[in-house]
Amino acid sequence: MFKKHNNDYKKKTNNSSGNHNKGSYQGHHARKNFGQNFLRDQQVIANIINLIAPGDQETVVEIGPGLGALTEPVCEIIKHLNVIEIDRDLAYRLRHHPFIRDQLTIYEQDALTMDFSKLKEEDKNLKIYGNLPYNISTPLLFHLFEYSDVIADMTFMLQKEVVDRLVAGPDSGDYGKLTIMAQYFAKIVPCLEVPPEAFTPSPKVYSAVVKVIPHKSKPYVARDYDLLEQIVSSAFNQRRKTIHNSLENFFTDQIFNELDIDPKMRAENLSIEQYVNLANYLAEHRE
Ligand code: SAM
Repeated sequence: MFKKHNNDYKKKTNNSSGNHNKGSYQGHHARKNFGQNFLRDQQVIANIINLIAPGDQETVVEIGPGLGALTEPVCEIIKHLNVIEIDRDLAYRLRHHPFIRDQLTIYEQDALTMDFSKLKEEDKNLKIYGNLPYNISTPLLFHLFEYSDVIADMTFMLQKEVVDRLVAGPDSGDYGKLTIMAQYFAKIVPCLEVPPEAFTPSPKVYSAVVKVIPHKSKPYVARDYDLLEQIVSSAFNQRRKTIHNSLENFFTDQIFNELDIDPKMRAENLSIEQYVNLANYLAEHRE
């Protein structure tokens, strides 16, 4: 499913010390609480830039530019880039960057509070990318899904485990609320696996790059999205129970049968379409 990254990365890194975890990197001490793992492998960086495929016909946004590993090569391709960086020191460095500072609009803030619809320019598609801070990647994805109508595509580096959950199908342990909500809004394409050594400091786990492409028209439409979220949360909060039990506050077996859904199934056995049908049944019958 993934393109495996060629392991010959050590020769291509821009820090030859071989020690990826001690001290500062490019004069910056990595902050764990901001999920700072800086990309150092030039081949991985080049592959990601190809996947982002930035262009001047789009409004481009980077989440967490950090020390500029992706920012600098993107600025070689396009004239203007929006970046969102929470770390004051890193935002300062970008404001004073010798080559690209004039190309950047810097939002020094938490990406979780960003109103992405404000960034979209008329007649331009919104393209978002980032090597995301792992500690907030799931809430950030949920936040971004709220803007899926105005986003053309997103390219993200995530923990591989999160990517596995994003692309999972029913009947598997990885299939959960994140899977259903992500696939409700978007097509998810896993692109590249990245080893820990591609970063400084090295994370403990593998990472992966994924493309998230919001559906132009959704395959299944929930009349009330909040209701869909509630039903999916209730089912997966008790994923070992049958939906007869976990969803008993919402549905009787008679309703399950009406919708052609076996009440003996567990949360992970239901398709996205079935969850949407359940949510729409409730929405219709309470109106
Ligand atoms: N893009 C750089 C790279 O690839 O080397 C840095 C990636 S690092 C994994 C994550 C970046 O996101 C850091 O620069 C960090 O300060 C920033 N960050 C962390 N939490 C953030 C938040 N809530 N909003 C915006 N930026 C955040």
